[in-house]
Amino acid sequence: MSSKVRVRFAPSPTGLLHIGGLRTALYNYLFARHHGGTFVLRIEDTDQARYVEEAGQDILESLAWAGLHPDEGPVAVRDEQEQEYKGNYGPYHQSRRRDRYAMYASQLVDAGYAYYAYDTVEEIESMRDRLRTAENPNPKYDAQTRMQMRNSLTLSEPELQELLEEGAEYVVRLKVPAGETVQFEDLVRGPVSFETEGLDDQVLLKGDGLPTYHLANVVDDHGMEITHVIRGEEWLSSAPKHILLYRYLGWEPPAMAHLPLIMSPSGGKLSKRKAEEEGIPVNVRDYRRERYDRDAVVNFLALLGWSPGDDRELLTLEEMIRDFSVERVGKSGAIFDFKKLLWFNEQYMRNRSDAELAAELEELIRERGLPGKDSLTEMEQQRATDTDFLAGVVRLLKERVSLLPEFLEAGAFFFDAPVDFDEKSVRKGWKEDTPARVSLYRDRIAGLEDAAFRADELKRILTEIVEAEGVGFGKLMMPLRVAVTGAGSGPDLFETLELLGRDEVLQRLGTALEKL
Ligand code: GLU
Repeated sequence: MSSKVRVRFAPSPTGLLHIGGLRTALYNYLFARHHGGTFVLRIEDTDQARYVEEAGQDILESLAWAGLHPDEGPVAVRDEQEQEYKGNYGPYHQSRRRDRYAMYASQLVDAGYAYYAYDTVEEIESMRDRLRTAENPNPKYDAQTRMQMRNSLTLSEPELQELLEEGAEYVVRLKVPAGETVQFEDLVRGPVSFETEGLDDQVLLKGDGLPTYHLANVVDDHGMEITHVIRGEEWLSSAPKHILLYRYLGWEPPAMAHLPLIMSPSGGKLSKRKAEEEGIPVNVRDYRRERYDRDAVVNFLALLGWSPGDDRELLTLEEMIRDFSVERVGKSGAIFDFKKLLWFNEQYMRNRSDAELAAELEELIRERGLPGKDSLTEMEQQRATDTDFLAGVVRLLKERVSLLPEFLEAGAFFFDAPVDFDEKSVRKGWKEDTPARVSLYRDRIAGLEDAAFRADELKRILTEIVEAEGVGFGKLMMPLRVAVTGAGSGPDLFETLELLGRDEVLQRLGTALEKL
């Protein structure tokens, strides 16, 4: 394939960008980069009723977050009139390309491939009621019925003239031929064919003069010289209408690749509702807010329907670009294995430096405080801004958490003394002879110089005590852990003590001895 590969991601700004939308963008991006082609972003905003103000901005931010920078498209979402674009095929908002859709619609009418229809909603409904039968529960506006309706195929010249003068509202409909089979070769699914029998005379231009998705999509893919349309399987059923449009407009259709549906782990399509039920974030914004590692998300999405052909799972973006091919995209639904996504996140997080993660934690705390706290104590405040301390927290918990915010949940006790102690662990580990042993340990470590308050030394002292008393390690370790962290399990105890520091540890032991 030559360098003139041009693909596009063409979201409709009807809501926040869905994680499935990001996969579509990623596959387009990988395909473009693999072939040294161009990745275009086009905003399909002709549906005024479903337009969501913040969606355009969200699309740009989400793509930028994922590192999928379009070569052409909107640069920033500004005031409607003042869009900034990159590329020579703009404007890249369909709302700013209106004139050309109307022009092509009338070209289709003139050539006899489309017609003006004046039917009201009620008239269409009454046609359906009239013709509805058990075999045909939902009669279409098509070759069978169009001659019974009010359109430029059935009305006389004077009637049409009158409607025109009245300024009557009309739509332009595609004249779908009867009894034809529309075929094309899908790069993922192989040969695909549809009977025109099943197709409605698709509305191309609406009463408000704006195009429907189908017309605008075809006009722009042609106008922007798109060579490959890569999109979700939910658009497959639209493809035959598009093929007809290309034919009637005298254009070569682009190659098409329909990506497999994204399925829920429990079966069925991963709908918004289903995802929510299963605790899977749906919008890219949720992944951004929960501080998912973007490289982990991209890696996971790359494998959601595509495979490199061997058992590699961890792939860099460069490797994905090098190895990507539409031929290795699967036909059957791709299961969104959320546990696997967490695994990817762990892998990528562990590969990053403690300092880097600490800086992110600091920012996270600045943004939303500590989990479950309305305000920070003085100690929490101080520790939350101490990057060395935060890096210590990261180091101790890195192997135990899957997502960045979990450092703050699993590590709450690092920031301030626990408010209560885990009952089960207290019952199990805090016995009659415990206080004496804990006191002994406290007294021994109280005498350590700051520089000697280190994990190895703290461990040595504990070993000495348990050996002298002839008891197991756990007899002292478990109560110490409960006293200092409030919980029965956690990261390495001695490293934890070292990080907390002598004064803090002594104080916590004192409190526990009083309370327990
Ligand atoms: N605007 C459509 C969407 O929201 C684009 C479908 C296509 O890629 O043709 O996904």
